[in-house]
Amino acid sequence: MKTRVKQWMISRASLLALLGVTAISGDYSANAADQSLQAGFGFRDITPPLPIHLAGYAARKKPADRVDGTLAAQAVVFCNPGGEKVVLITVDNCEGSRAFLAAPIDEIVKRHGFQAGQVMTTFTHTHSAPLLPQTLETMNLLAPADNLRIQEYGSFLQKQIVAAVDMAMADLQPAILEHGQGTAGFAMNRRVFREDRVDFGENLDGPVDHDVPVLCIRGTNGTVRAILFGYACHGTTLGGDDFYTVSGDFSAYARQNVESLYPGAMAMYLPGMSSDINPSPRSSLLDAKRHGLELAGSVVGVLKRPMRSVTGHFHYAFSEIELPLATPPSREQLLKDAQSKDDYIRRRAEQYLDRLNREQPLPKAIKLPMAVLRFGSDLTFLAMGGEPVVDYSIQLRRLFGEIHPWRIGYAFDIACYIPSARILKEGGYEADSSLIYYGYYGPIKGLAEAMIIQHFTKLIQQTR
Ligand SMILES: [Zn+2]
Repeated sequence: MKTRVKQWMISRASLLALLGVTAISGDYSANAADQSLQAGFGFRDITPPLPIHLAGYAARKKPADRVDGTLAAQAVVFCNPGGEKVVLITVDNCEGSRAFLAAPIDEIVKRHGFQAGQVMTTFTHTHSAPLLPQTLETMNLLAPADNLRIQEYGSFLQKQIVAAVDMAMADLQPAILEHGQGTAGFAMNRRVFREDRVDFGENLDGPVDHDVPVLCIRGTNGTVRAILFGYACHGTTLGGDDFYTVSGDFSAYARQNVESLYPGAMAMYLPGMSSDINPSPRSSLLDAKRHGLELAGSVVGVLKRPMRSVTGHFHYAFSEIELPLATPPSREQLLKDAQSKDDYIRRRAEQYLDRLNREQPLPKAIKLPMAVLRFGSDLTFLAMGGEPVVDYSIQLRRLFGEIHPWRIGYAFDIACYIPSARILKEGGYEADSSLIYYGYYGPIKGLAEAMIIQHFTKLIQQTR
């Protein structure tokens, strides 16, 4: 690594000499801060106290009783020479709702002058981190005392999210960006077809996206300050004996492995579009750690090979679209569902009936936030909310290959799964039954996919 930094410093020195800048190097560095893209990084430890109930699996019946590894809230701020900023936040958790995120985002906007949409939250989607308040409420059936611990952890996490951004803002410095891509093979399509239904399993022939995008961010002295990486896979390795262990799953182990090889640098994972993809094999802490090693190995491999320069400043576009839902059920159907023996079906019906009784309209659409963060043609982050299936990742890569699209899911707000037209036709958990846990009746209508692709096209045009 040392050799490479030295080579880079020599080439920068030669470049400065060529530009005739050597004699006024003092002026140059003052100028560089105004003229160049800046980046800053923040990290907060958000490992919870025990015991605590975890989110992600409806089958869990008791709180977690041990912790393996640190959970983190992280932030990276990019700032253009003109002062325009955007912040990407990643939290080691399954997800936090729009309602849960509202307070920390307001605080970040107020403290640092971001505009609406410029604060992009993502969740690593580990299924082994605490339940959060105001999130997946249909799924939360806790006793009041357990709920109190969730409320306390939630307030703590909201503060840490703001603190991570404070740190990143205080850390803004001129940055040099390089992008590259590797692969990792443990992501497996989980939709298997049995007679007349779609079930969970391991589908060796199903679509996957094994890309590992990597962004290396250096200071002007060549030091690696941060390493961003992505992968399209659910954070669901843990199970079996580790079902009640707090863990950031494979992405946190990958982060820790990368950081151990690049001391002083912050590694940060951005989740891909991967809701129908599971790690394989899965069920143990050992599997999660091994996937973490594989992913880190891929990231470090990219860093050791030549990478593409990402030059200039960024353009950013954000807006939301509404994906139409099928017509809500009749009051008769809701009353019937409210008698269901299934807790989750019952709670969903009760919530809809409650709305009817208060003369509020029933949900007719899902709001989907979408954003494009574009660095010329060198690198483009395409981010969307919800839990998008992998078809989106594959299609966006094919359609927008020339601008090097880095596909991000679980961004801004996770209202529900975002199925493709194919999956809506096939049915199964990602198409319909997952909506029970998100408290919606569906499914989303089949034109959703065309709407999403069309909207990404529009946002990309806005960032030209
Ligand atoms: Zn999920």
